[in-house]
Amino acid sequence: MSDCPAFIRSDLSELAAYTPNPGGKDLSSLDRLDANESPYDLPEELKAKLAWIYQQEIATNRYPDGGHWQLREAIAQYVNDSANLDNAIAAANISVGNGSDELIRSLLIATCLNGEGAILTANPTFSMYGILAKTLGISSVTVPRRETDWTTELDTARQAIATVRNPPIKVVFVVHPNSPTGNILSHSELDWLRNLPSNILVVIDEAYFEFSQTSVVNELAEHPNWVILRTFSKAFRLAAHRVGYAIAHPDLIAVLEKVRLPYNLPGFAQIAAKIALQQRSLILPLVSETLQEKIKMWNILAAIPQLKVWQSQANFLYVKLKDCDPNHDSQKYTQLIDELKLRGTSIRYTGGGLRITIGTKAENARAIARLQELLKHSY
Ligand SMILES: *Cc1c(COP(=O)(O)O)cnc(C)c1O
Repeated sequence: MSDCPAFIRSDLSELAAYTPNPGGKDLSSLDRLDANESPYDLPEELKAKLAWIYQQEIATNRYPDGGHWQLREAIAQYVNDSANLDNAIAAANISVGNGSDELIRSLLIATCLNGEGAILTANPTFSMYGILAKTLGISSVTVPRRETDWTTELDTARQAIATVRNPPIKVVFVVHPNSPTGNILSHSELDWLRNLPSNILVVIDEAYFEFSQTSVVNELAEHPNWVILRTFSKAFRLAAHRVGYAIAHPDLIAVLEKVRLPYNLPGFAQIAAKIALQQRSLILPLVSETLQEKIKMWNILAAIPQLKVWQSQANFLYVKLKDCDPNHDSQKYTQLIDELKLRGTSIRYTGGGLRITIGTKAENARAIARLQELLKHSY
């Protein structure tokens, strides 16, 4: 790591930049099963429509709608429709961000900054919570998960919340279903969240909602200290546009609106997300293709003797090498993903295991063939 200039905050010197896979290289020949994106570009007709809108309707010299009202209305409608909520969610319950990553950062700024609070996560989980906390000088408390079903060790979590002080835990981050492990929140985890005191913010990240069809949005009205995060980066096939949203009580939404950057979401991204919602009947049907491929992949991976694979409610599978403790032998994993990448498939080594995004049929078939080939020789 290069030396930090002397004027930089001392606690940032040990923080490495987040390098999304595969980064920088020529990606055209690589099967990218490492970031849980959809393997499918938008349908041709939608891209043509967006290109037309860009030409005809976007004045590039003007700032975009800084309040995102049309998009927030469209999102509220989608949330209501997809949860059979009778207009319970309105635009005032929605805040949009430059990816849900921006919303995570806004939530941290609004809760824990200035030494006022720490966050709690159950690892392995989405790494961004800890990374963004660190960039803001916010401390993270991590509790383990049980490797049988990846549920949180709740006694440890309760103990942490009861005992951690200076600062106390103010935000709990959960993912439903979790990345990288694919499990949805269990009944006991949900009960734990329901009973957390109202001075703790509960962030329920539903980035994979369209795959799992599980959501806590029906309970949101009862819990003003809950916020749900969603994204257009996965099932909606819009990762390039960086659009995420938060669903919460209007008082919390008002705070998010206060701390975000002005004009945080480019006009074209707002329009792309709005069109994607309007035309979702052209976009979301491929979710079921991904889910079918996931079952196929699971069956094949489960039959490979060196591997352990878990059930997943999302668009990826989590796999471990049976005879390899990543704490002592992480080299085996890094070697495996490097060799897999040389053969043309990029997957992610995270949380002590391998996360494989479900791609197209052809990408999945190549991934399996390459993995089987590698596992024949060693590991
Ligand atoms: C992919 C993902 C996101 C999406 O982040 P964006 O910034 O909206 O692209 C958020 N949370 C989790 C758990 C994810 O896996």
